Amino acid sequence: MPLTPAQKKALEAEMAEYVGKSIGPPIVARDAVNEPMIRRWCEVLGDANPAYLDPAAAKETVHDGIVAPPTMLQAWALPGFEMARGYDEPTNEQQRLHKLLSDHGYTGVVGTNTSQGYTRYLRPGDVITDETVIESISEEKATALGIGYFIVTRTTYRDQDGEEVGWLTFRCLKYIPAQQPQAPAEEGAAPAAPGRIRPPMGHDNSWWWNLVAEGTFPIQKCNECGTLHHPPRPMCGACRSMDKGWVEASGRGTLYSYTVIRHPQFPGYDFPIVAAVVDLEEGVRIVSNVVECDPADVHIGMALEGFIHEDEDGFKLPLFRPAK
Ligand SMILES: [Zn+2]
Repeated sequence: MPLTPAQKKALEAEMAEYVGKSIGPPIVARDAVNEPMIRRWCEVLGDANPAYLDPAAAKETVHDGIVAPPTMLQAWALPGFEMARGYDEPTNEQQRLHKLLSDHGYTGVVGTNTSQGYTRYLRPGDVITDETVIESISEEKATALGIGYFIVTRTTYRDQDGEEVGWLTFRCLKYIPAQQPQAPAEEGAAPAAPGRIRPPMGHDNSWWWNLVAEGTFPIQKCNECGTLHHPPRPMCGACRSMDKGWVEASGRGTLYSYTVIRHPQFPGYDFPIVAAVVDLEEGVRIVSNVVECDPADVHIGMALEGFIHEDEDGFKLPLFRPAK
């Protein structure tokens, strides 16, 4: 959404008030550092380090007992599903800052990078508290996704004695999705309604989107060995050829897996969304949405029919509906 220079100046002045603020009261972990959560973490990541898993072996290490993997730091005090609330009704300063930007057209959000530091190993029984501060907000930047602001938060983790045990910085970009008009608006003009956030398009995949824009549903095909690929990629995984062509998908497919997204509700989309992985009859899978169907009627294995959908702003993409 375009802002006038005066609107932008007012927005940036309001944003500046957030820099240096705690996003809210420190969050105390719901559970002390504990062995069951450590075991689950290690199981998921395939980490067999006995210092995390085997009390007897851990006793023989420099730790003199079980310790938690340092990279679990962020996990201990995460507030759970509570985090997904607050997009419409912000409950902390970070959410208020994000909503301020969303309300001015910067509806896109993407995490760009994160860093962590560890002061000591955590042990079962430690109770972690985290406190997050909005550390900085960049000047407005032009990025491939659209113009926006980088916001850096810094979280400090402390133990039950108030000693710092680690920290985490997180940087995200709040941006105006690039397909929307970015030129300054007429003074007093109504903001444009946010639209679907465009997928990043680069050297390896823009050809695919360009065909979709013409109303075609393409699947990448290796010209050397004939293997089909999706999503588009620079090199054939079967024969390493970079000579790529494409075939047109029939659109016929079956639902391999799906989830129904109800929260968080980003601007520019109709919720709930059925996010689906579809097996195309040609033998490749594609991530898309199932539409024209009550989410309650969606089921794995259902026959689907792909078609090229066009958004109100002219953007096209393949979507799926129940096969007739
Ligand atoms: Zn090949």
